[in-house]
Amino acid sequence: MEISGVGGVGHSALEYAAIPAFQDNYIWVISNGRDAVVIDPGDEAPVRAYLRERRLRLSAILLTHHHGDHTGGALALAEGQDIPVYGPASESIPGVTHPVREKNTVQIKTPALRFSVLEVPGHTLGHIAFFASGFA
Ligand SMILES: [Zn+2]
Repeated sequence: MEISGVGGVGHSALEYAAIPAFQDNYIWVISNGRDAVVIDPGDEAPVRAYLRERRLRLSAILLTHHHGDHTGGALALAEGQDIPVYGPASESIPGVTHPVREKNTVQIKTPALRFSVLEVPGHTLGHIAFFASGFA
């Protein structure tokens, strides 16, 4: 099953999609038709295929927790490129360049997105959520 849609505020239309991964997982992508942010890329191959098909440039990676099925593709996707990788400060995740914690703000230039970081321990102790607090 593929989940996708279009949303946004004002003139900044955003596309979002859930790329199926592994048996029962999704990798979320938010794009403006040119640049894309990927959330929890557990596997690099389906993300690369998605980006290539749509001629999207990867601009940032967001990671919610340390499990391999959510982080496994991050290092390879960011390798050799200046792509910020945001992840929970309280978990050790290879490739994270911007450790974040509760109340931090993540500002992505393009697509223009602003997230507030929420700590949501449960699935893992350091699990975080990125709350889209603005489209700036
Ligand atoms: Zn997990």
